[in-house]
Amino acid sequence: MKIVIAGAGIGGLVAAMCLHRAGFDVEVFEAVNELKPLGVGINIQAGAVRILCGLGLEPALSATGIETRELRYANRHGQTIWADPRGRHAGLPWPQYSIHRGDLQMLLFEAAERILGSARLKFGRRIGSFEQQGQKVVARFVDRGGQPAEQVEADILIGADGLHSAVRGRFYPDEGPPKWQGILMWRGVTVGKPFLGGATMVQAGHHTQKFVCYPISRAHADKGDALINWICDLHMGDQAMLPREDWNRPGKLADFLPRFEDWKFDWLDVPGLIKSAHTILEFPMVDRDPLPRWSHGRITLLGDAAHPMYPIGSNGASQAIIDGEAITQELSVGDDPEKALKRYEERRLPPMARIVESNRRKGIDIMLDIVEQRAPQGFSTLDSVLPPDELDRIVADYKKLVAQDRETLLKLAALS
Ligand SMILES: Cc1cc2nc3c(=O)[nH]c(=O)nc-3n(C[C@H](O)[C@H](O)[C@H](O)COP(=O)(O)OP(=O)(O)OC[C@H]3O[C@@H](n4cnc5c(N)ncnc54)[C@H](O)[C@@H]3O)c2cc1C
Repeated sequence: MKIVIAGAGIGGLVAAMCLHRAGFDVEVFEAVNELKPLGVGINIQAGAVRILCGLGLEPALSATGIETRELRYANRHGQTIWADPRGRHAGLPWPQYSIHRGDLQMLLFEAAERILGSARLKFGRRIGSFEQQGQKVVARFVDRGGQPAEQVEADILIGADGLHSAVRGRFYPDEGPPKWQGILMWRGVTVGKPFLGGATMVQAGHHTQKFVCYPISRAHADKGDALINWICDLHMGDQAMLPREDWNRPGKLADFLPRFEDWKFDWLDVPGLIKSAHTILEFPMVDRDPLPRWSHGRITLLGDAAHPMYPIGSNGASQAIIDGEAITQELSVGDDPEKALKRYEERRLPPMARIVESNRRKGIDIMLDIVEQRAPQGFSTLDSVLPPDELDRIVADYKKLVAQDRETLLKLAALS
C-alpha cells in the first residue's frame, strides 16, 4: 500500500518511519527546500519516547537532549508548588527528554534517511491540490516558486503539514486563522549554569504571566554548563490583535523583560537569564477548535494539522509522535484503508479534542492560578493555600486526560 505524507515535521517523519517499518511504501513531501535546525526547546513525554526508542533512536536522543528528571511548578516567587519525577525517574520504562526542536527534527530526518532512504524524502515540494479518484488519491505538489512539480498517485494521503495545514484547509475552507486568547510567548535559549540539579523543567508564575525553563543540551551538560530553553508568556489584553504566527519571528527584549525584572528566585536569576539569550523568538499562543473529523475517505490529518493545541503539558510534539504509531497500528489491521483511517480518527480525535479544550481552561497550569489568587505575595506553607487532596486531584485528572498515567502508558506499550 502506498502512503504519501505531506510535511516532514516531527509528526510526519515519525509516522513515515513507523509506517515503513510496518511494511508500507511511504513517500514524504516537505515544503521547505532544506530542513534547518529551527525552533527552540520542546519536551517529549515518556509515552512518545517509547515510540522513538522502538525506532532505535534512544542513543541519539540521550546523546543530544537532557533526560528530564523532574517537572516543577512554582509561584512567581520561585516557591515550589508541585514537583513530579518524570520518565524513568517516575518508575516508567522510558525516559522523558528535553531537547532542541531543531536537533530533534534533524535527528529524525537522519534516521528517516537511513530507514526509508533519501529518495523517499522530497524537499521543496508543497502540497498544492489533491483528490480521491476511486480507490486512489492523486496529490499534486508545487515547487518553492509555486510551479507544478510532481503528481503522485497513492492509496492514502496524510496531511502532517502543521498549524497552517493545506490539507486541513481543503476540508475546512472557512476555518480562518488559528484561535488566540491574547497570550504572546517569547522563547529563547541561553547558556547558563545548571539549576535544580541540571535536569528539571520549571513552570513558574501564573496564567497571565508565566516563565518556563529547562536545559536541552547533553553537550553543554557534559561541559558543566546548561543550554537553557526558556519561555515567557504574557497576556496582552483581550483587545490585542493576533500577530502573524511565524516560528522564526525575532522577539524584542523591551516587549517583555520589564515585566520579569524582579523575578529573582534563590535558585535562578530569571531576568539575568533572559538578558544573556543568544536567540529570542516571538510567537502567539494559538490553537484551533477541535474538528468533527480528520479522515475523509483515504485522506487524513496528523499532528498539528489535526489538533494544534496550546503548549501546556508538553503535548505538541509528543501527541504528534503518538499519532504516527496509532495510524500505523490501524492501517496494519485489516485491508480496508478507509475503515482504518476512521478507526485512527475514532481512537485519537476525542482525546486530542479533550486536551485542546483542557489546555484552553489552563490544563494542569490551573494550580498556578489557584496559588496566585490565594497567595499573591507567596506562602509560608503550601498546604494552607492549596491542600494536598485538591492538588492531587488536579494532577491525577490531567495525567489521565493526556494518557500519561502509568497504567495507560503500560497498556499502550503492551499493544505495540
Ligand atoms: C520551523 C518550526 C519551528 C518550531 N519551533 C517550535 C518550538 O520552538 N517549540 C515548540 O514547542 N514547537 C515548535 N514548533 C511546532 C512543533 O514542532 C509542533 O507543534 C509539533 O512538533 C507537532 O509536529 P507536526 O509535525 O505536526 O508539525 P510541524 O513540526 O510544524 O511540521 C509541519 C511540517 O510541514 C511542513 N509543511 C507546511 N506546509 C506544507 C505543505 N503545504 N506541504 C508540505 N509540507 C508542508 C512544514 O514546513 C513542517 O516541516 C515549530 C514548528 C516549525 C515548523
